Amino acid sequence: MSSFVPPSTASSLPPGTASGRRQYARCVTVPLPTATTRWRCTSCGNLTRFDVTRTSRVTEFLHLDLAGTSTVEERTVHSDVLEQVRCRWCDAVDAVELVPRADVEAELAGRAVEEAALGEARAAAADRPAGPGA
Ligand SMILES: [Zn+2]
Repeated sequence: MSSFVPPSTASSLPPGTASGRRQYARCVTVPLPTATTRWRCTSCGNLTRFDVTRTSRVTEFLHLDLAGTSTVEERTVHSDVLEQVRCRWCDAVDAVELVPRADVEAELAGRAVEEAALGEARAAAADRPAGPGA
């Protein structure tokens, strides 16, 4: 079979393209979620499913095993530009707003940590040995 396709030349600039610098058609100002906020679709209320289009430039450390399966063990992000956020439910484009995260998990985690600390303190106070037991 000779179905070998050479690397595409599609990435080369079309003839007559004088300036290599591209004009970015639109500069999307999608708010980025933070540690305390999350996206919410303003038209349908979706909180959990978005198609995100972004342009990233990264350097990755690939570690391949002897079978040839690769794992990215390190990733350095040089640039990361968010271009579009599309709602998976209603297809709205760049119609997200930031809302506070439900901090249920944070509260639970905080409580667990507190309880653990309390438990440890109690245990330490209750049966602190006078010296090394053995
Ligand atoms: Zn939506």
